[in-house]
Amino acid sequence: MTSSSEGEILQVGQVIRERWKIKAKIGGGGFGEIYEATDVQNHHERVAIKVESSKATKQVLKMEVAVLRRLQGKKHACKFYGCGRNDKFNYLVMSLQGKNLADLRREAPKQCFSLNTAIRIGLQILNGIREIHSIGFLHRDVKPSNFAMGRTSQTMRNVYMLDFGLARQYLNAKGEIRSPRSAAGFRGTVRYAAVTAHKNKEMGRQDDLWSLFYMLTEFLQGQLPWRKIKDKDEVGRMKDDVDFTTLLEDCPSELHLFAAHLKTLGYPDAPDYTFLESLLNQVIVKEDIKWDDPYDWENG
Ligand code: ADP
Repeated sequence: MTSSSEGEILQVGQVIRERWKIKAKIGGGGFGEIYEATDVQNHHERVAIKVESSKATKQVLKMEVAVLRRLQGKKHACKFYGCGRNDKFNYLVMSLQGKNLADLRREAPKQCFSLNTAIRIGLQILNGIREIHSIGFLHRDVKPSNFAMGRTSQTMRNVYMLDFGLARQYLNAKGEIRSPRSAAGFRGTVRYAAVTAHKNKEMGRQDDLWSLFYMLTEFLQGQLPWRKIKDKDEVGRMKDDVDFTTLLEDCPSELHLFAAHLKTLGYPDAPDYTFLESLLNQVIVKEDIKWDDPYDWENG
């Protein structure tokens, strides 16, 4: 943690709306900054605050607030506590979660998760994606750092979906699929983006699931073949040409069927979430995985 506060939107000790006292910066760099704070009006409960400068050229926090509000009550959504704006910044207050999955993987031996952990995390992420799709939005930046484990004894085995800054509505007010744009700018993160995004095409529901597929592969293999390639187009070509037998070497055969289902889907198609869930559940049964088993990071 740096001692310099230059360029940061909030200062440690600052109190927002006489309620949330800033404790530390815990993330950011993308579009906003994330701080841990305590709620001085409510037993000093620990919360997370995402802030965006009023001067930011891309204002995305409004979208994040809209999505998070609609997700309230869903299992994989943070609790929404409040939002607001002043002349300096916009802010969103939500429940504070624990470590994100990118950090947990990096801290793991060999940078991978056991099949037991990866499959149970994968099932939870699949359900999180299904939840956001059910309210008419695509996430469009599904990646390990956008999922975190809970922090309290009640929530520490639950996965939470973060960061709706790139979310996009795919249904219109009538509940119909919006017409796809003929060209769309690249959105997301090169390592986990679906081929559709690389081709600057309109993303659909299956593309969030392709990102989950790449995440699962990386959890199990400890790496993806394009991890060191910076060039977006080259990564796109590698994904387009990838040999699934090599990519999924030593992985459960159900992951081949997972990808095969995604390959059948285009922009307007509804993914068969129940089928994808049943594939991951088959692994649970075959490997005798129990939901009470410890996750990798709970060992030792
Ligand atoms: P950005 O849009 O700037 O990338 P994110 O919303 O993705 O910001 O958050 C960046 C990081 O901050 C996450 O990877 C996570 O580690 C942390 N973070 C975000 N929201 C929370 C939260 N509610 N609780 C705990 N940590 C969070």
